[in-house]
Amino acid sequence: MTMTHERRKTRRIQVGSVPVGGGAPVSVQSMTTTKTADVEGTLAQVYALAGAGADIVRITCNEVEAAQGLAEIVPRSPVPIIADIHYQYRLALAAIEAGVHGLRLNPGNIRKEDQIKTVAREAGDRGLPIRVGVNAGSLDKDLLERYGSPVPEALVESALVEIRYLEEVDFSDIKVSVKHSNVPSMIESYRLLADSVDYPLHLGVTEAGPPPAGLIKSVAGIGTLLSEGIGDTIRFSLTADPVEEAKAGRQLLEFLGLRERKGLDLIACPSCGRAEVDVIDVATKAQQALEAANLPIQVAVMGCVVNGPGEAREADIGIAAGRGRGHLFIKGQVVRVVPEDEMVQALLEEARKLVEEGLEARLAHAEANAAEIAAAERLQLIEIQGDANRAAERRAKVAEVARSE
Ligand code: SF4
Repeated sequence: MTMTHERRKTRRIQVGSVPVGGGAPVSVQSMTTTKTADVEGTLAQVYALAGAGADIVRITCNEVEAAQGLAEIVPRSPVPIIADIHYQYRLALAAIEAGVHGLRLNPGNIRKEDQIKTVAREAGDRGLPIRVGVNAGSLDKDLLERYGSPVPEALVESALVEIRYLEEVDFSDIKVSVKHSNVPSMIESYRLLADSVDYPLHLGVTEAGPPPAGLIKSVAGIGTLLSEGIGDTIRFSLTADPVEEAKAGRQLLEFLGLRERKGLDLIACPSCGRAEVDVIDVATKAQQALEAANLPIQVAVMGCVVNGPGEAREADIGIAAGRGRGHLFIKGQVVRVVPEDEMVQALLEEARKLVEEGLEARLAHAEANAAEIAAAERLQLIEIQGDANRAAERRAKVAEVARSE
């Protein structure tokens, strides 16, 4: 199952080895928080971001020392590097000289047409793309005066003016962003932009803040647009370790079916009065153990064996709590029954084997009587706890009401 909307058709650009737009997989970006002049520290963060799912990393180029740092960082980076440029167009030229794979220019603070065109010519000569990166918080002051506030129309106009400058020097390796910290305004800005240009779009809710609110804002804005087919590369702007941004970006794409699952997808029931274990505790422990094992698998942690295996039958593997025991199931079929305190360990072991040996092999290894034990325990629990839906009782009551005079 994937997205219902067709992806919007765009031109394709190339950020180093990563294609963006034109049907390429939606890519994940993040940005380092180190001083760029600190080459080793920045590289360590670039590696951490790439490991967490970033396809492209942006690094600030805010001073000469930063540009010099980039000259050492870029050749050692595992992913393409984009230089983030504000105010000083000369630093864009320096970053190009340092070998970066792309630039981000802010039209709100590099405003001189001749300077923008000079950068575009240099980037064009080296085949480097430029992101026209409009931001509501640093919108061109003339536009801000004219519109009164950073409304979507103002953001898009800022982008279009800059795009025109680039096109006038035959530069078209462009991607565009119109970020806003207000989610509905961000969504509206990108919709307008998508109707105005056929360049690939870089999505983001700017200054989203710390998690969990920052995550929710980002998912609301980016997820809404992606579900409409809009967006070619994304960045979560969280006030957090950027590794969290990269991870969240990657997960969003995986959950929307836009990228293949690379890591764990843990589903867990919300727990209810039927739960036979502390679901939050077991799910947290399982998440830690499984994430450390880095398995590309969907795992379910369910609070009871009454509904658990059935509710999570689509999961690759899962565990449901019985009375003091855990029932391990693969694709809804119970394969082993283990003591409660071994649930997480057993889940981890079985998940590893499932990835290594495949579904058929593991189902063939199912303990002969596991399904019977589970079925018996399920009935026992229903008897003890009662049928939560009280179906029989309610049917009788409905019939009684219907027949009453
Ligand atoms: S799996 Fe069991 S404990 Fe969890 S929500 Fe469903 S009925 Fe409740």
